Amino acid sequence: TSPPNDSIHDEKDKLIDGLLASGFDEASCTSRFQSHLFRKPSHHKPSQYLISKLRHYEELHRKCGPNSRGFRRNMKVLQSKKKGAVGICKYLVWTPANGLGNRMISLAATFLYAIFADRVLLVRFHNDMRGLFCEPFLNSTWLLPKDSPFWGEKNVETYKTMLKMDKASHSKRALPSTLFINLQHTRDDLEKFFHCDHNQDLLRNITLLILQSDQYFVPYLFMNPYFNSEINKMFPEKDAIFHHLARYLFHPSNEAWGLISRFYQTYLASANEKIGLQIRVFSPTTTPMQAIMDLVLNCTISNNLLPALDTQNLVSYSKNQTVKVVLVASLFPEYGENLRAMYLTKPSVSGELIGVYQPSHEKQQKFYNNMHNIKAWSEMYLLSLSDVLVTTSLSTFGYVAQGLGGLKPWLLYRLTNNETHFPACVRDFSIEPCNHIPPKHFCNGKPIQNFSSSFPYLRECLDFSFGVKLG
Ligand code: GDP
Repeated sequence: TSPPNDSIHDEKDKLIDGLLASGFDEASCTSRFQSHLFRKPSHHKPSQYLISKLRHYEELHRKCGPNSRGFRRNMKVLQSKKKGAVGICKYLVWTPANGLGNRMISLAATFLYAIFADRVLLVRFHNDMRGLFCEPFLNSTWLLPKDSPFWGEKNVETYKTMLKMDKASHSKRALPSTLFINLQHTRDDLEKFFHCDHNQDLLRNITLLILQSDQYFVPYLFMNPYFNSEINKMFPEKDAIFHHLARYLFHPSNEAWGLISRFYQTYLASANEKIGLQIRVFSPTTTPMQAIMDLVLNCTISNNLLPALDTQNLVSYSKNQTVKVVLVASLFPEYGENLRAMYLTKPSVSGELIGVYQPSHEKQQKFYNNMHNIKAWSEMYLLSLSDVLVTTSLSTFGYVAQGLGGLKPWLLYRLTNNETHFPACVRDFSIEPCNHIPPKHFCNGKPIQNFSSSFPYLRECLDFSFGVKLG
């Protein structure tokens, strides 16, 4: 698409209706200025309250973030390791776990928590995450400086110990100045009650929190009355929380934007319709490729996302042939290759021409690899530019694409034992990510029987019945 002439509209589109702050340098982050040329305008408008909270947060980040004078002073106080040492500013250090999709959904949730808790968000990006995103906060950085003592959890008290001590002693004890909170799930873990008032009251007095999670834990926050009322004011549309957070935070770096924009312009831009197809195979050794291919075709053809093949004719005579493109994201090359060959070998019954493109096939998830992550990020972004999106159940990679794009995906059933009695896919009811490990108890310790009757807007996920999501 060509840019609209009207420069006021252009400015409004660039800043996503005020979601983004103006004043950034274009050369350092081209995607920030060009992405509106690739995307349709969002159906979801950010509220004035969200915008004012973001501007307020940016002010705090400038005042206390790594480039500020206050930062060094605060870090000195913290390093003194005195129990109860209090800095002028409070910090929240996000630390990565698992794949890029998991990281991005947990980072978005951590940012929202930072806003609520008046904490400065700093990210522990190792080399494998550097160079993926632009800096999100004007005139500052969110990178935890490499020479910071808070790169490791050693010698830092943990949330788990704090909870134990809190239970054991009813007398007031001095809280640590730094605390490591692991919100990741392990089988033997006790419930963490992170969002509950009692624990939030304790955490409020700790200057620096290091938080590790691989989940989108916004549904937890939604279960706390204070956070809940803030969320309600900030996000009148409950299913667009990640959508706004992701569009605010995650701008592809120039390197990633080069991959995205070239691929988009070369293969996708001129098509009449774009279908994003994410095929995530969690256990490639036990799931036959043909079973997955059958599932994908069953889903896309029976729901009219792609046309069936015309087996009677060798040539299609319809005039005015429209072109549909399918962007395939998968670790394995065979899916894209099979689909491409299929539509080249036979005409489609509708006469449509189907182009199939797969940007990469990395074969396996690679850790500590920067280029691998840049490719993964580029593909999530490209998927988010589709008109129609098909994702794989349970995949956080797909959650990022659907959230960024504002697209309710068709969810491919997750194959386990070659079962065939289920529908190949279902249409999701919301664009929010699913939280896979919701709390099992209310803050008072009573078991939660049914989320949706206790918390309006929280519903069981379609792709994972133990999970919950907003929508
Ligand atoms: P999830 O495991 O599906 O929830 O998604 P994650 O993003 O957390 O982890 C999977 C990781 O495997 C990704 O971050 C990539 O590193 C890699 N990966 C999986 N599927 C794809 C794909 O379609 N394309 C690329 N480039 N990488 C993928």
